[in-house]
Amino acid sequence: MKILIAGFQHETNTFAPTKASYESFVQGEGFPPMVRGADVLGLRDVNVPIGGFIKVMQAHGRELRPVIWAGASASAHVTTDAFERIGGEIIAAVEQGGFDAIYLDLHGAMVTEQHDDGEGELLERVRRIVGDRMPVVVSLDLHANVTARMFAHASALVAYRTYPHVDMAETGERAARILEDLMWEQRPLHRAMRRVPFLIPVNGMCTLVEPARGMVGMLADLETRPVVSVSFAPGFPAADFPECGPTIWAYSFEEEVAERAADALLAKIVGEESRWEVPFLAPDEAALEAIRLSASASRPVIIADTQDNPGVGGDSNTMGMVRALLRNGATDAAVGVIWDAEAAAAAHRAGVGARIALRLGGRSGVEGDSPLEALFEVEHLSDGRFRFDGPMLNGMEGELGPVACLRVEGVRIAVSSVKMQVFDRNLFRVAGIEPERMKILVNKSSVHFRADFEAIAEAILVAKAPGPMAADPADLPWERLDPAMRVRPLGPSFSELSPVAG
Ligand SMILES: [Zn+2]
Repeated sequence: MKILIAGFQHETNTFAPTKASYESFVQGEGFPPMVRGADVLGLRDVNVPIGGFIKVMQAHGRELRPVIWAGASASAHVTTDAFERIGGEIIAAVEQGGFDAIYLDLHGAMVTEQHDDGEGELLERVRRIVGDRMPVVVSLDLHANVTARMFAHASALVAYRTYPHVDMAETGERAARILEDLMWEQRPLHRAMRRVPFLIPVNGMCTLVEPARGMVGMLADLETRPVVSVSFAPGFPAADFPECGPTIWAYSFEEEVAERAADALLAKIVGEESRWEVPFLAPDEAALEAIRLSASASRPVIIADTQDNPGVGGDSNTMGMVRALLRNGATDAAVGVIWDAEAAAAAHRAGVGARIALRLGGRSGVEGDSPLEALFEVEHLSDGRFRFDGPMLNGMEGELGPVACLRVEGVRIAVSSVKMQVFDRNLFRVAGIEPERMKILVNKSSVHFRADFEAIAEAILVAKAPGPMAADPADLPWERLDPAMRVRPLGPSFSELSPVAG
């Protein structure tokens, strides 16, 4: 058996400012850089879906025909140029023929300048060439907005189960096993698909906490024969088109079985709708609640400053949470990591112990944000080199450029010269701040920080302070959602919110 394999990943936020160009995919921007042909097989040991797929299929002695693998970081639309060039290479290889099956490593939330549903467009073009009978198996990100067109043209779709995405390679392995099943059975799978009628905030999708954690267990429990595969994609709630939203699906060679599994999953999610709500707090509410909780706590209360998360397009220097801590008289609080190279340089010129007047952060031009003008004490300086000890990037070297700890009243601020999400407690330590000894921590991150901080947290609060990325889908200026879709758990439908939509 010969299998054509390729990957093309992009998570599109149609409200974001910058598009993904061909060059973005060449570089990878946090993903592995673009690779072609035999070099794709070099991803075998990387935690990406195609890596897991390659591993399983090589173990089975299958011949792989690698075409291209390309990914770029989340941004606005994929340009038509990038889509046609990368998609075009995949289509050209499909046209050449000489294989028995296809595996594609896609994201599932790609919007291009021309197509709401980049993956659906690509799959339709593939299917037109290979006909109805060839197995085409596709792995997807947990943040996929899965469309009718994608279901129609793929023989099977399978999504990641975890967020943080520790199971990307494992999902590729599951895709490989489904493809083996399809080749063995020589008949199509029955598919049962259900749409969840409300958008889920990204912060609510973290599978380290309930209710998302419980879904991981339920999916695994359901996936026993005769169920071949079940997936739940809570979606990417920042793509303005009618099929944006969470989906559930199940495959079995027996129709009844697939339908029952999908019903059970939908009943579980819809029956617990209120648990999917994220209790977002305003900056002052978050500061006051953290002060209240920390009064009797032995561990820090952590506030996720999610809307300025550099992992989803923030610049990691809005000052809303710092102001709220100061306004409410917080003590033993630390904020990390503020990206402001000028402030770090000024602190290095002044030296430890100096008091300097600065306009700190506030450089993103975000509504409601501005630099914080204050007198800061320089408490610590370093060259910003450190090693990650947390589970996300364990053992890797980190480099924040010149770093300073600047103190104003009861708040210590870790300031860096390089922008980086707080994946790891050592991003505070490199600024001379021991995170375990603080009463309150403010982290510029949405979910990934939990991997290393959950163990030391008394509680984790999620604040909606000024930042470029709306954490609550209800706050986005939607124009094209499904009119019946509720814009948050238990929230109003899009048509109720915006009468023109109905
Ligand atoms: Zn994702």
